[in-house]
Amino acid sequence: MKCAACGSSSLLEGELMDMGDGSMIAFKLKDVSMWKSIFGKGTRKVNAYGCLNCSHLQLAVDFSNEDRDRYRQFEGVQPGFLERINSEEE
Ligand SMILES: [Zn+2]
Repeated sequence: MKCAACGSSSLLEGELMDMGDGSMIAFKLKDVSMWKSIFGKGTRKVNAYGCLNCSHLQLAVDFSNEDRDRYRQFEGVQPGFLERINSEEE
């Protein structure tokens, strides 16, 4: 991976942490309710990369191969959450 701002490959990998309670920051899918996300549903780990050269911070969502398979079948406009749930039950 290269820095999106300066092109340097001197990136340090890390994670975003809440200094208040030590919890990690996560990516939450927009259509997933807060209640589901509390139980870990619809959230993905966020990886952070800090550029040693220019200090730019870039973030990447830790999608699984399962996520890629599931969401790529809906190219373009993503369907609503209920449509996705229904398609998962098949
Ligand atoms: Zn940079």
